Parts: sequence; C-alpha cells; structure tokens
Amino acid sequence: MGDSFQTIVDRDASADDAPRLAAEVRDWLVARRIIEQELTDCALGDSGHRPGPGHAAAVEEPDEETGVLSLQANGLQIEVGRTVFYTIGSELTCRACGAQFEPEDGWSEAVDDWYNGNDSAEFECPECGKPERLVEWSGEFPWGFGNLGFKFWNWPPLSGRFIQEVAEMLGHRIVLVRGDL
Ligand SMILES: [Zn+2]
Repeated sequence: MGDSFQTIVDRDASADDAPRLAAEVRDWLVARRIIEQELTDCALGDSGHRPGPGHAAAVEEPDEETGVLSLQANGLQIEVGRTVFYTIGSELTCRACGAQFEPEDGWSEAVDDWYNGNDSAEFECPECGKPERLVEWSGEFPWGFGNLGFKFWNWPPLSGRFIQEVAEMLGHRIVLVRGDL
C-alpha cells in the first residue's frame, strides 16, 4: 500500500511570519495531544511529530482497525519556507466560468515563476481565458503555494472542523492538498 498525505497550506503567511505561526500551531496541537512533542523519523525520511493519544479529535472517523498509530510513516511534517505543495492529478475549477480541468499548457511555467519569487504569477483558465493568481486557484484537487504547510502522513481524512480551527489559528485562508505517492 502506498503512502498518502493531507497538507493544510497557509495561502497568505509571509516568509517572516511562517516560523512563528508554525510554532504556535505545533504547540497548540501538542497541548491538545493531537501530536507528540518530539521530532522523530516518521515522515518518509523527514522528521515529524507522531500522532498523540488525542489525534482522533482531528479526523472524521478514527481508524481503529488499521490504526495510524502503528504505521512507520504517520507524522505531521511542518514545512516552512517557499514551497510548491503539489499533488499528482491536479484538478482545478475556474471561478469565472466553472470549468473543471487538469492544468496543462502554461501551468509548469507559472509554477516555476511563482517558485522563483513572483507572488503574482498567474495561470489562465483554458476555457474562458481569465487569468487568476496561482495562489487563488482552487478545485477538487488543488495545489498549494505558500510559506507554511502542515503535512499529515497517512492520517484518516481530517475533519472539516479541525481544518477550520487550524485556519482560524493561522488567521489566514488555507487550502487542503491531498494525494497519494
Ligand atoms: Zn474559466
């Protein structure tokens, strides 16, 4: 079985604010026992925080049978710094015309543009041609662009309430990036 991830990406955190926000959310998750405080090797070669005894409070349905606790890769990996949070098989929805599509022509150029420092990098809807900043695009399987992401490895689906709580704590808009390796 492959590994899956869910990443809560902060769309708006600046590079300066990201380290402080990362620490605030981490401390809050530790205090609620959703994650363990220690960093261990539990994020596929990177260090992360293993789920704590209270992790069920973050997910829709606790997975008692297979048990995320027993997995080797089950950590929360906190990523700070300019990052393209990608997934395979992206699907976006145009806010102007409603078209749903898998981005192709021009997408990787726009992603490179953003990664190289242009916060205003744009991508045009292939249906109606309306340009939208890369960070504004949403859809069924969006990518995330930002300076801060919380990547949960192999956790059951995070609950909408939990994601909302994290967003409120950050005080920013977030996007959830999901995928399988
Ligand atoms: Zn459109």
